[in-house]
Amino acid sequence: MQARHPIHRNALVLFSGGQDSTTCLAHALTQYERVETLAFDYRQRHVVELDARLQVLDQVRTQFPEWGHKLGEDHLLDLGVLGQVSETSLTRDMAFQMEASGLPNTFVPGRNLLFLTLAAALAYRRGLDVIVTGVCETDFSGYPDCRDDTMKAMQIALSLGMDRRLLIETPLMWIDKAQTWQLAHDLGQKAHAEGGAQLVSLIVEHTHTCYMGDRTHRHDWGYGCGTCPACELRAQGWARWQA
Ligand code: ZN
Repeated sequence: MQARHPIHRNALVLFSGGQDSTTCLAHALTQYERVETLAFDYRQRHVVELDARLQVLDQVRTQFPEWGHKLGEDHLLDLGVLGQVSETSLTRDMAFQMEASGLPNTFVPGRNLLFLTLAAALAYRRGLDVIVTGVCETDFSGYPDCRDDTMKAMQIALSLGMDRRLLIETPLMWIDKAQTWQLAHDLGQKAHAEGGAQLVSLIVEHTHTCYMGDRTHRHDWGYGCGTCPACELRAQGWARWQA
């Protein structure tokens, strides 16, 4: 398939192994000739997420050979330092809850700014022009460091600071979770005839979203506790997409 940007051929995908970042990975594999992946290990309470991402990469290579050959190196950066600057339910043994600020206590101030800065440094070194990230303004959580304006400001700051044009691409910014399922279906379909259903079932089976790290309860939308905000969002999106 013809790359969309004649100038931008290579991309780095922020890839956590969840539904959103897997859809972003499919997007990048559709658009670009070489795609590398990046995740951060910040002592998440649940290593299942890090396992899930390797499973997904494996399955993409096997089930989508037309994408597999574009898939380059996978990077994992240690961000244990995040645990020193924040106390959140993602890095400590705390229950998920909403705080007085209206943000969930999974919020690490500026975390995504740090992610993008490190991603840009890696992209620079690897000769990659585009950073693809699954941030989204239509999500319930409303993290300020995931908003469109923040992304645009980061793109400018990083391009200036590294004296190299860098694109931050956000394919999910304005779509909801039902549309994210549809997007995955459409992208899979572009790869090959049965690819739509195949990519959706790959996402259901192998991606991980649940905050509680639950891989024992299987629903039609995938594995998870079914009651945490991440599971609820994924389940509701699935239900609306199926309808
Ligand atoms: Zn859950």
